Amino acid sequence: MFDPKPYIRTVPDWPEAGVQFRDITTLFSNNQAFRQLIDAFVQRYINTEIDCVIGLDARGFILGAPIAYELNKAFIPVRKKGKLPFETIEEAYNLEYGQAEIQIHSDALKPGDKVLVIDDLIATGGTLNASCKLVKRLGAEVVECAAIVDLPDLGGSQSLKDQGFDVFSLCSYS
Ligand code: IMP
Repeated sequence: MFDPKPYIRTVPDWPEAGVQFRDITTLFSNNQAFRQLIDAFVQRYINTEIDCVIGLDARGFILGAPIAYELNKAFIPVRKKGKLPFETIEEAYNLEYGQAEIQIHSDALKPGDKVLVIDDLIATGGTLNASCKLVKRLGAEVVECAAIVDLPDLGGSQSLKDQGFDVFSLCSYS
């Protein structure tokens, strides 16, 4: 399976002292690595029954849109509060670096839809967990939560698994 680690840049002490920020812009800016990255997710889900791909604001959009396109499925954005123009539902959650609220259009999913939820990285799992709550509130089903990177020491992927969600990442940093 494709290993994205050689293409990910680690930026020490950003956005604050002590944080090792995993910068995936260097993965996206390598055309061959970017293609292999998208292909790795497509291959994983090509034979899975899903109705749509949800990408999380904002790096999840960069991943989710080409994956949805290749799978010939719908793409649906989960956005930070105040960005979606129509009727929304929202969830508040704790971030690794603060607090946030995310929203989805209330007509974006139908009850019973099978949904793949994609973001770039799992830290505390707060963002994916809040997104999965939005999916469930609309009556849809999370098929899997997927990311490029997992930071297992922060416990996010484990807490998602503890809640019954399947979780997939291409690499992890401990
Ligand atoms: P969580 O909600 O604590 O799991 O944090 C995940 C969210 O924070 C994702 O949307 C990421 O884009 C962002 N994030 C946190 N740490 C990093 C990092 O080291 N690199 C890139 N994004 C990060």
